[in-house]
Amino acid sequence: MPNDRIVIHGALVLAYGDTAARPADIVVSGDSIEAIEPAGTAQSPRQIDATGRLIIPGLVNAHTHGHGGLAKGVGDRWSLELLLNAGPWINGARTGQDRYLSTVISAVEMIRKGCTACYDLSAMLPVPSVEALNDVAQAYADVGMRAVIAPMIADRTFYQAIPGLLDAFPPELRSLAEAMRAASPDATLAPIREAARTWRHPADRIRLGIAPTIPLHCSDDFLAGCRDLAAEFGLPVHTHLAESAVQRTGALKRYGTTLTAHLHRMRLLGPGFSAAHAIWIDDAEIELLARHGCALAHNPGSNLRLGNGIADIRRTIAGGVTVGVGTDGSSSSDNQNMFEATRLAAFVSRVFDRPPEDWIAAPEALQMATEGSAAVLGMADRIGRIAVGYKADLVFLDLDHVNLVPLNDAINQLVNGEDGAAVRDVMVGGRFVLRDGKLPDLDWPRIAAQARDAASRLAEVNAGARHTTDRLAPIVSHFCVGLGRCAHDLPRKLAAEYVNL
Ligand SMILES: [Zn+2]
Repeated sequence: MPNDRIVIHGALVLAYGDTAARPADIVVSGDSIEAIEPAGTAQSPRQIDATGRLIIPGLVNAHTHGHGGLAKGVGDRWSLELLLNAGPWINGARTGQDRYLSTVISAVEMIRKGCTACYDLSAMLPVPSVEALNDVAQAYADVGMRAVIAPMIADRTFYQAIPGLLDAFPPELRSLAEAMRAASPDATLAPIREAARTWRHPADRIRLGIAPTIPLHCSDDFLAGCRDLAAEFGLPVHTHLAESAVQRTGALKRYGTTLTAHLHRMRLLGPGFSAAHAIWIDDAEIELLARHGCALAHNPGSNLRLGNGIADIRRTIAGGVTVGVGTDGSSSSDNQNMFEATRLAAFVSRVFDRPPEDWIAAPEALQMATEGSAAVLGMADRIGRIAVGYKADLVFLDLDHVNLVPLNDAINQLVNGEDGAAVRDVMVGGRFVLRDGKLPDLDWPRIAAQARDAASRLAEVNAGARHTTDRLAPIVSHFCVGLGRCAHDLPRKLAAEYVNL
């Protein structure tokens, strides 16, 4: 019997396959769950008393951006395109320490709100570097969270990516937009290759991925470069797919086909491929994603916040695609609260013209936020369940918290009512990273002070870039509203037929 065996006793446990929480002992050995025994029967000299706690599997955030940690609250009525327009100042001029702090802040919020793993698309301007990737990895290691870290990359600027946008600017503004340049494919991909070659973090804790950020922002050569690099090193690939109506119309204009069909043509679709949002996709795209074993991240909070629309996830699931839940980054969603994202995933499924039996039910929403998201991270065989052989990634909620008093139905209350406030302890890989509401491994007051300093310094350094993009914003907004409206006005079925011509 290994001497690191721990018995967690006294709690109600939401174990895999159960429809209700029940009293049980969880036996943890090393970083994994060795057994789930009837309450009061498991023996070990090392015991954790979890009386008064409800233990659930750690929630998994299928799509976020750690770089958003320092940029929370910077915008309000921003469409996706206005957010992308603001990118140079909200994400620019970051030092290694800024990247570290930003990621720590996001990770701390996730842990505090019951999330133990995430897929982080991290912006590293102007190009990723091995050091930058290690700074982000170190942030997750220090907080104690699992993560897939995928540098968010492109070889076109936002202004080059949207067909017709540059032509919409008057000459002076056009020259400002044209002066911004993306790095060359080689300059972007070479450091990722080096990072993949020398990656020192265990793949089941902190895994490297690659994120050609938005297909329209990437030339075909660049997409092929990402694909080949991913194949060479076994990296998961993630992108923002048809997040806005603008992207759907832009794809029809640029490729003469849908975004998913283009990715298929580029041979990017496969079991290691996942995508976020997927609001503006049609049935043929769902079929392509399902046939190639791709997974999707559903980000209902971000989709509402940016006015992108509501992804019809019931249709996607019925089409055979695995779906997880994500918050998206703090500059677009704005918190890192997986309970909120999960609740929204259930709620927004009810606005479509369908009977209640077709709405996303609470057990299904929770499954999406755990097992579904785990599949997006490529970790479905080890996280997302309280089950024997799975990692001991466990969230302990206080049954005396008002959110859970009285406990009538644990799953319904977790999905429909919980906001993360009842989370008391969080364990990742058998080790507490949040204990009685405190972060044992982190000097939070110091992190918070450094983050405040970093945010003020960055606001000053990026003031010029902000002035420039503020001048471009009105044209971006009006042009993109018009371009997006083409997709709004075109009924989905008609659009699908147009695409299939
Ligand atoms: Zn995103």
